[in-house]
Amino acid sequence: MAAIRIGNGYDIHRLVPDRPLILGGVRIAHELGLLGHSDADVLIHAICDALLGAANLGDIGHHYSNKDPRWSGMDSKFFLKDVTRMLQERGWKIENVDCTVCLEAPKINPHIAAMKKVLAPLMNLTEEDVSIKATTNERLGYVGREEGVNAMAVALIKKPEA
Ligand code: MG
Repeated sequence: MAAIRIGNGYDIHRLVPDRPLILGGVRIAHELGLLGHSDADVLIHAICDALLGAANLGDIGHHYSNKDPRWSGMDSKFFLKDVTRMLQERGWKIENVDCTVCLEAPKINPHIAAMKKVLAPLMNLTEEDVSIKATTNERLGYVGREEGVNAMAVALIKKPEA
């Protein structure tokens, strides 16, 4: 029987001035950006954790420590491609991912098509298999005060019959 597994991922980064806002591998014009050791792409980080979780391979911090100077300022697209490689080496094929990014501003919907175009090939998926949704937090809490952005993702992976 083919093995099918599911994983979930969650991440948060602080919003600060003088940093670029990069979400889903796409740079979005905004007066605030995400703070982090890498490029702080919170959406890619959540997807990486969902994929690693599905394969029971730990979490993104385990593989790419924020104490490791190699990952300073790193383009998070590298992490997603590398996680995909780790899964493939263990015989896993990614089936689909579904994610939600939660922030008050700017509007994300106009950028979703571009994000899918960037992310799908990194996971050897078609854009049809990558769902990205965005929501505000109705002005509530730290997201509502624009102090941070969080993202959640689920991923399904499959290992064909041996
Ligand atoms: Mg992160």
